Amino acid sequence: MAYSFEIGPIRPPSESNSLLIRVTRNCPWNKCKFCNSYKGKSFEIRSVAEIKKDISTIKILRDQILDITLKSGSSGGMQKVVGMVLKDPPNESFRVVALWLVGGGENVFLQDANSLIMKTADLGQVIVYLKNTFPKVKRVTSYARSQTVMKKKVEELIQLHQAGLTRLHIGMESGYDPILEFMQKGETVEQHIKAGQKIVESGISLSEYVILGLGGREFSELHSRLTAQALNEIDPEFIRVRTLVINGKVPLSLDIISGKFTRATDEEIIQEERTFIENLRVHSNFVSDHISNLLPELEGKLPEDKNKLLAILDKFQALSTREKANFMVGRRVGLYKTLQDIENSQRHELVEQIRTKLCKGEKNLDPRIIFSLMEEFF
Ligand code: SF4
Repeated sequence: MAYSFEIGPIRPPSESNSLLIRVTRNCPWNKCKFCNSYKGKSFEIRSVAEIKKDISTIKILRDQILDITLKSGSSGGMQKVVGMVLKDPPNESFRVVALWLVGGGENVFLQDANSLIMKTADLGQVIVYLKNTFPKVKRVTSYARSQTVMKKKVEELIQLHQAGLTRLHIGMESGYDPILEFMQKGETVEQHIKAGQKIVESGISLSEYVILGLGGREFSELHSRLTAQALNEIDPEFIRVRTLVINGKVPLSLDIISGKFTRATDEEIIQEERTFIENLRVHSNFVSDHISNLLPELEGKLPEDKNKLLAILDKFQALSTREKANFMVGRRVGLYKTLQDIENSQRHELVEQIRTKLCKGEKNLDPRIIFSLMEEFF
């Protein structure tokens, strides 16, 4: 029988090759209108003993994979064996460990939505056990809520950092209180700022998430400007953007039907992103590593790359209406990765055929077409 351990449903895109260790189940808040990751599931803190058992199981799986690698001889080595394992893994646990090993075996992500809610001593104990079991591990990260960070003393965060916690991912989402309130985020901008500053002070690397389009059409400008302002007060190591995607499963879809929330279009979101970047006065890495983003090439170190990022936005905004429509369709059906791809004449022609079909004879691209393409993508 294949060994297995518990794995939660999500992790940040930057943790795609990380080992996933579930320390809590689901989300203790679970009320944000734009999120359906854990809806209908109740929150639980797993016991330290249960988590340690999972870590020991992972060690057995790791040893099994290394053993197969050794027995396979030198030709192909680890990559070959992991390739075989990934093609037909006995279970998801095996696949996660194999992916982790091929990614270097150094990064670990603690699931689910808010691991920091564990007692500091318990979480510290888990991290120490993990690091003792896998001495090669260098990066240990987790999601956390600002409200929970506020309940910890800086000394506790320092304690966790010393145990081996290297990075926290926080969903700030917006720096404008009416948006946070409407979205039932359960946190204020002030809490986000104070929690962020506390994490930075503790020495733990901080990654702040922002959702482009979260203010809809109505608050687009305020969302971009005030979110930048809040981040300026924190100066996190990473600012990560993702774009709002609404499917029928998120509670926000009801506000769209009732007319309480009007979605911003891709073009409006690009303008929002421009205002956001223009207003940032930080020393952060700007990252667009989420598939929902129209322009994933918007990445760089601030402030030095600010003009480079704005030049990418200029390039999109300077396109004709028809070329913008071509790019948006191409990107949303997965034929384009970056703006550069529009210059590939074959792909451009193929996208043009899809665009014409989707527009059904209309001259302009209806934003609802893009919204439904985005929903299909997720
Ligand atoms: S705190 Fe995070 S995981 Fe929980 S409901 Fe909000 S967005 Fe979803």
